[in-house]
Amino acid sequence: MCGIIGKVGVGNVFPELLNGLKNLEYRGYDSAGVAGIIDNKIIRFRQEGRISNLEAEVEKASPESFIGIGHTRWATHGSPTKDNAHPHISTNGKFAIVHNGIIENSDELKKSFLEGKIQLSSRTDTEIVVQLMGLFYKGDVISAISEACKALTGSFALGILCEDTPNILYAVGQSSPLLVVKGKSGNYIASDFCAVGEGTDEVYRLTDGEICALTEGSIRFFNPSGAPIEKFPEKAEFSCVAFDKGNYEHFMLKEIFEQPKAVKDTINSFLKENEIVFPNVKLYDNFIKEKLEKIVIVACGSAYHAGLVGKSVLESLCKISCSVEIASEFRYSQSFINEKTLAVFISQSGETADTLAALRLAKKKGAKTLSIVNVTGSAIAEESESVIYTKAGREVAVATTKAYSAQLASLYALAIFMGGIRAAIDTERYKRLVEELRFLPEKIKRRITTLAPQMEELSKDIYKKRDVFFIGRLNDFATAAEGSLKMKEISYINSQSYPAGELKHGTISLIEEGTVVVAVAGKSKVFSKTASNISEVQARGARVILITDESEKDCKVTAEITVTVPETLKEFQSSLLVLPLQLLSYYTAKLRGCDIDKPKNLAKSVTVE
Ligand code: GLU
Repeated sequence: MCGIIGKVGVGNVFPELLNGLKNLEYRGYDSAGVAGIIDNKIIRFRQEGRISNLEAEVEKASPESFIGIGHTRWATHGSPTKDNAHPHISTNGKFAIVHNGIIENSDELKKSFLEGKIQLSSRTDTEIVVQLMGLFYKGDVISAISEACKALTGSFALGILCEDTPNILYAVGQSSPLLVVKGKSGNYIASDFCAVGEGTDEVYRLTDGEICALTEGSIRFFNPSGAPIEKFPEKAEFSCVAFDKGNYEHFMLKEIFEQPKAVKDTINSFLKENEIVFPNVKLYDNFIKEKLEKIVIVACGSAYHAGLVGKSVLESLCKISCSVEIASEFRYSQSFINEKTLAVFISQSGETADTLAALRLAKKKGAKTLSIVNVTGSAIAEESESVIYTKAGREVAVATTKAYSAQLASLYALAIFMGGIRAAIDTERYKRLVEELRFLPEKIKRRITTLAPQMEELSKDIYKKRDVFFIGRLNDFATAAEGSLKMKEISYINSQSYPAGELKHGTISLIEEGTVVVAVAGKSKVFSKTASNISEVQARGARVILITDESEKDCKVTAEITVTVPETLKEFQSSLLVLPLQLLSYYTAKLRGCDIDKPKNLAKSVTVE
C-alpha cells in the first residue's frame, strides 16, 4: 500500500507533493513524509499520522525545492513512528528514498552488507535499500540503483533522490505499481495518476525492475542492469474525479446512498435492449458451451464475499461447478486450473497485489481470465484477457459498499450471460432475470432511505457490545460474512460470521444471555433450516436480529427484531439483504466515535502481500 509521489520541474514542489499525498492517503495513513534538495543538500520532513500533521510542519519551515519525493505509509516493517516514516536517507547523506512494497530478504541483506558498517536508524525494510545504494555508489547513480535493486527480493516501487544529481529524480518499479507521468510544468512519478495535479496523456508504467531517470524536460528508461531502453506511453485512459462528502458526515454514508446509481450505471453498461452484452469480454460461445469445465473466482476481503454470492448464482444459472478462492492462498496452492477453466478476478482498485499475482498464475496455466474491477487502466484490468468494469465511481471510504454492490450486479449479469449461452436457462427465464436485474437499483433506492433511521436506532442496542455474531446459509452466509466484516473493520467490535448450521459444531459455546446474533435469511429452500438455528441460539439467551425479505415477514420465526427488504428473485437477494448490515455497522461505528472512513490499520488499496 503506501502512496508515492515525486516531481522534478518548474516551481516549488512541496505544495504539489502535499496535495498529491492527500489524494494518495487512501493507500495508507500511518505516517507521511517529503524530501527535496536545497543547495545540493537533501532536506526531509516526516510526521506520524495524517498528511495534515506533515503539512503543518512543512508550512512552518516553508522550504523551496524544484525536485522532491513524498510518501504516505501503511507500515509493513516497523511500527508507525516518525523514525520509521519515509523518506529514508542513507547514512552518507547521498540518497533519499520512498518505497511501496516489501523487501523479503531485508534481514539477510542487513547481515551480509550492513552489519558492523552502518548504524540503522529505523526498523523498516526500506532503510536497507537506501543504505545499499549509499554503499554501492561510486559516482554513477544508475549503477548504484541497479546494483542495490539486484540484491532485493520482494516488491518495490521506489522514488529516489541523490544529492550529487540535484536535477534528476529516479524511480524503480518491481511488482508494486508506479507510474511515470509527463506533465506540463515538469515530470512526475506516482502510485496513482490522481496524485498528479496536471493532466497529461503521456503515462508509462514501470514494471519488471525497470529504472527511470526524470528531469524537468526528459524521461529516460533503463533495464534492471542499467542499460538504456525505449518505452512507449500507455494508451490506457486514466481519469480522476474530484471527491467531496457533500452534505454527508462521512464518505461511507454517502457511498451507501450512492448504491442505486452505482448498480444502475453498472447494469446499464452491459444491458443493451433486453440482452446482456459485455464490450470487453472475449469469451466465445464455443468456449462457454463446449470447452468450459469449471469457474474459479479469486479475490480478497469484500470482493471475496461478492465472489461467494457469485458462485451460487453462476452455479444455479450456468449449471457449472464454481469455486471461490482467497487470492493470497490461491497463489501458493495447488491450483488445478487449465485451459478449460475460466478464472474470474475481483478487485475494486484493480491493483490488489495477491489478486494480481493469482491472475498471472492463472494465465501461466492457460486459464481464460476475466476481471471485475472498478478502476480503468489498473494493472489487473490491463493484464486480464477480458474485463468487466464496475461503474461505482470513485470509492473513498476504506470499507467498501457501492463497489461491492456493483461487483454483485456484474456477477449476476455474467451468470445470466453465460447461462444463456450454455442454454442452462431458457429464453423466458433469461427475460425474467434481465427484467428483474433492471429493476434492482430502484428497489435498493426505495428501501435505503427508510432503512437508515431504523438501523440508526438499532445501533444503540449494539454499540456497547463486546461481540456480535452473523449467521446465514448459502448466499445468506456470504451476506452475513460481508456484514460481519463491515462491523469489524469500522466499529472494531469483535464479530464472527458462521454458516448457520455450523454454529452448533463449536461456536455456539460463545452464545450467552444477551449476545447479539444477526441472522440473514432471505426467501429460500433453507429458510426453515436457518429458522431452527435461530431458535437454537435464542434458547441460549441470544437476542436475534433477523434480516429477511418482505415475503418472509409473516414467517414463523419470532426474532427479537425483524428488518425486511423488498422482494426480488432469489439470485439477486444479497444486493438487498446487505443494505441493513452496511448501515448497522456505519451507525454502530459512529456511536463508538470511530474514524469511519479511515479505520485503523487498514488501507483502501492493498499492494503488498
Ligand atoms: N515496507 C515499507 C514499510 O513498512 C513500505 C510498506 C508499504 O508499501 O506498504 O515502511
